[in-house]
Amino acid sequence: MEEGFCKLGQLEFGVSGEKFWVRHVDDAGVDGLEIFSNSHDAIAIAATDAHGNFRPLKTAPNLRRGWELAVCGLGELRLALDFLYPAALGNWRAALRGENLSHSLAETLGRQTGMYRITAKLDSAEALGIAKSLCSAGCLRRILWTVDGTPPRSTGICEAGEIPLLCTDACSLFLGEARRTVKSRAVNPAG
Ligand code: SF4
Repeated sequence: MEEGFCKLGQLEFGVSGEKFWVRHVDDAGVDGLEIFSNSHDAIAIAATDAHGNFRPLKTAPNLRRGWELAVCGLGELRLALDFLYPAALGNWRAALRGENLSHSLAETLGRQTGMYRITAKLDSAEALGIAKSLCSAGCLRRILWTVDGTPPRSTGICEAGEIPLLCTDACSLFLGEARRTVKSRAVNPAG
């Protein structure tokens, strides 16, 4: 982990003595947190929201609070962060190396097969509509992929010490919405 970074999405992390810790950013200074000591405990922490509902999108802004994970070693911290925000660290490192991480949405939709092949028919206005209703409203990732040459929303600026959560390609939830959109257009051609 590069020095000086301490935030990722809704997480704050750091080192105290020989332990690396991570918790919800809103739990700083909160007493009585449930303490976990195995990085694999992060899998269950990330699985459900505060009401016990499954979180299909791990970068939705509904990470539950009330816990702290204290692990031995940087490798264990990285593993926990990977469970909480899959691929976030790898994407960030690749971006720092200057790698081209993303594709246009048209490329992504064009290589779909099976039940998602129909998403290739999604038009730009529909794509921007999904990006607004799904991505802007319910996801913390910063979009790198493009619609008509431009990311569908501003990438914003990270706070000091914050690792960016990058979206390199439209996810399965986006593809599902794209499929529903195209299919409903086929059923309601006037809509
Ligand atoms: S496409 Fe990317 S930004 Fe949009 S919901 Fe999926 S992961 Fe988040």
